[in-house]
Amino acid sequence: MMKVHKIPAFDDNYIWLIGCEGRSGVAIVDPGDAEPVIDYLQREGLQAEAILITHHHGDHTGGVAELVARYPVPVYGPATERIPALTHPLREGDRVKLATCGLTLKVIDTPGHTRGHICYYGHGALFSGDTLFTAGCGRLFEGSAEQMHHSLEKLRALPDETLLYCAHEYTQANLGFAAVAEPDNPDIASRKVSVERLRREGKATVPAPLSLERATNPFLRSHLPVLIAAAERFSGRTLTTPAEVFAVVRQWKDSLD
Ligand code: ZN
Ligand code: FE
Repeated sequence: MMKVHKIPAFDDNYIWLIGCEGRSGVAIVDPGDAEPVIDYLQREGLQAEAILITHHHGDHTGGVAELVARYPVPVYGPATERIPALTHPLREGDRVKLATCGLTLKVIDTPGHTRGHICYYGHGALFSGDTLFTAGCGRLFEGSAEQMHHSLEKLRALPDETLLYCAHEYTQANLGFAAVAEPDNPDIASRKVSVERLRREGKATVPAPLSLERATNPFLRSHLPVLIAAAERFSGRTLTTPAEVFAVVRQWKDSLD
């Protein structure tokens, strides 16, 4: 049985640990900072057994060098990006098998935020880095809107009950935009209320089920008439493909950030 631990880092990052009930070995996902990870492992009596990286940005890789100096574990990450101490370059369809509990995660190529970004999927969990966020998606720093849309379509096709573990706590701000894009969506309105309550209590809003993302995340909804109409109103032109709608919705959110 998989068990995921959450370590907050910096202002709004999450570093996830993937382990198993009753076992001490864990894989560390996107350690942007080593110190909170080392503290957590010591406090909880856990052992690092692997590092999994989604993309090269410093807030996801900044702790790798210090961690591998302390724990000589394999470092998995995208084959096409420069990742510190990378030992296992990964591509679409590769599988990562974790040592202690034999959990297997599948690699999904998700270019867009960066050119080589990958996600890890398995056992009902998706570690989506900065590609799919709760109620949002990553900015297009290196890839095209078309690439990002294609990446998100792959993630949208995963089962309803999949839990989304993204790398940032952005849900509240993202829902602010979702409500602008779809003011009449009752699922967005009610998610806003519950997320605001959680944040007031200092609680995390991640993970979230993919079913909720499909209902409330505008970046998974660019094939729907309501989003097409909203994007056409915003851009003042006719949009013919879901990728074009996605591109406009992404620009729209960027213009408000
Ligand atoms: Zn990033
Ligand atoms: Fe990030």
